[in-house]
Amino acid sequence: MDNRLRGKIASEAVRLRIKRDVEQIIQQGNRPPHLAAILVGNDGASQSYVNAKEKACEDVGFLSSIYRLPENLSQNDLLDRIDKINKDDQIDGLIVQLPLPAHIDENVVNSRISPDKDVDGFHDINMGRLAKGNAVINPATPYGILLLLEHYNLSVEGKHVVVLGRSNIVGRPLSILLSGNHAFGNATVTLCHSRTKNLKEWCQKADILIAAIGKPYFVTADMVKEEAIVIDVGTTRIDADNERGWKLAGDVNYTEVKEKASAITPVPGGVGPMTITGLLSNTLLVRKKRLEQNTSA
Ligand code: NAP
Repeated sequence: MDNRLRGKIASEAVRLRIKRDVEQIIQQGNRPPHLAAILVGNDGASQSYVNAKEKACEDVGFLSSIYRLPENLSQNDLLDRIDKINKDDQIDGLIVQLPLPAHIDENVVNSRISPDKDVDGFHDINMGRLAKGNAVINPATPYGILLLLEHYNLSVEGKHVVVLGRSNIVGRPLSILLSGNHAFGNATVTLCHSRTKNLKEWCQKADILIAAIGKPYFVTADMVKEEAIVIDVGTTRIDADNERGWKLAGDVNYTEVKEKASAITPVPGGVGPMTITGLLSNTLLVRKKRLEQNTSA
């Protein structure tokens, strides 16, 4: 039985819709959406994420610009660069690839991106709007998970969702989104973290279990309710006997959990492609909004 929730396939469907919208924008005599990404330093994983985002932009007809900046760049120089992009009418969305070098404060950087161009959805204003149920931009990974569930017609309404991990980029915003009063919301959400007592018992109560902790193969079959839906956000590079010397490991022991779950995301090929799709959707949304308001070139 193939019970995989395939992010690659869901992504293709959503990206096709995005591509059509871009074609329409161009036909109306406007420039396509433009996403800018800042990459500081030479971290291998970050470089491949940024390259994948660039490729995805190209595939849907977006413009993209990557600013590759040196590891020893000062925080002020990075903030200056962000200010310039904020003011650039030709750019609709801006992301700063994380993690940043230790001498740069991630919160300061995220808060410097104009909330209107913050297509990762990390700015305090966007997080605040999300918390109040008025989100304009949803953080890319949680949004991507919603798009995945939507693609497979899996409603979360009335379901008990257990989210493992309370980070500001995945677990916490996801728990807010899923519990919100909107289409693809209205779930009852339990948010677990490293201080949660009886974690296994909470997991066993989940109709939908979402793991976002960064601990390879942490979720085992005995933690999962029969027929539960399991979403694995985890992506940790672990040593592997292949050409690259590493592979991506999820937070779920896929081989054993897939036998018990009614649906499950693989790693890779599950949530990963959906995150980029969430980002593309946000960039398109910002572009359309700016065209409506006539605030861009
Ligand atoms: P993070 O900032 O490190 O947060 C990890 C969270 O997991 C924390 O809330 C932590 O609890 C909790 N945690 C850690 N160990 C735990 C345990 N044994 N039991 C219960 N909770 C535990 O991580 P993140 O940025 O959210 O990322 C999580 C994973 O998702 C990583 O593997 C990351 O690479 C991956 N990720 C993937 C995508 C994608 O597109 N596929 C996108 C983003 C992230 P405390 O708060 O108590 O410390």
